[in-house]
Amino acid sequence: MNNKKGGSIPLRVDILTLFPGMFDAVLQESILKRAQEKGALQIQTVNIRDFSENKHLQVDDYPYGGGAGMLMKADVVIRALKSVENPQAHVVYLSPQGRKLNTQIARELSEYDHLVFLCGHYEGIDERVMKKVDEEISIGDYVLTGGELPAMVLLDAVARFVPGVLGDAHSAEEESFSDDLLEYPQYTRPEEVEGETVPAILLSGHHKNIERWRKQQSLLRTLLKRPEILLKHSFDEEEEYLLCEILFGRIPEKKKKRKSES
Ligand code: SAM
Repeated sequence: MNNKKGGSIPLRVDILTLFPGMFDAVLQESILKRAQEKGALQIQTVNIRDFSENKHLQVDDYPYGGGAGMLMKADVVIRALKSVENPQAHVVYLSPQGRKLNTQIARELSEYDHLVFLCGHYEGIDERVMKKVDEEISIGDYVLTGGELPAMVLLDAVARFVPGVLGDAHSAEEESFSDDLLEYPQYTRPEEVEGETVPAILLSGHHKNIERWRKQQSLLRTLLKRPEILLKHSFDEEEEYLLCEILFGRIPEKKKKRKSES
């Protein structure tokens, strides 16, 4: 498997789960619902229990060697995976042991034609299923009861990068983290709420100054809230000036000179 990019529309996502009902609200509301109606996403849930050949529809069993809890059975999960098999598919197991999800990974996954999300439950899945998995993705360093919530988080994060999902084609690119910066503060009507007013510059209609103010606010917020992100950011010259203004209240003489020369 592991076939990247056709980037064709719709992006197909098959979600393999023991609890398909958990996805109803997420898939039938708001942006993900509209994206499916518009044909940008084609999402289906597959109930892993349908692939049990046991008369009690058993899907889990005790771990060999003992230990707490139950494991999802390899034969059942592998049959479920085979039901959506496609050489173009990229199979992701949602797992606390995986690569930790971030914007870059979400953007990367949006470039596949077909994603398969495998949700574990109970104590997890028999290790022999891992040879059918292309990668494991975690949504953070904590353990949840199942892969369903992580799959919803991953689906939402990936969908935002699929063309046609968001109204404004650029909005996913302007959000926090897209350029190793947090987003600037935003305001909407009314102009005053409980004595708090909107920064005057946003009402000025001066687009260049507004853009500059927003960039400086982005830098300031990132510096104050997530300084470790700022270390990864590559600064252009204007951003260096803006950061100097934040830190020193002015542009240093040397930089001023360079600016007037350009
Ligand atoms: N025993 C497993 C371990 O220690 O790695 C954890 C199993 S967890 C209770 C059950 C399922 O929830 C996992 O199979 C996985 O699909 C999902 N899960 C739990 N935490 C997760 C996380 N942080 N990110 C992604 N999936 C997670």
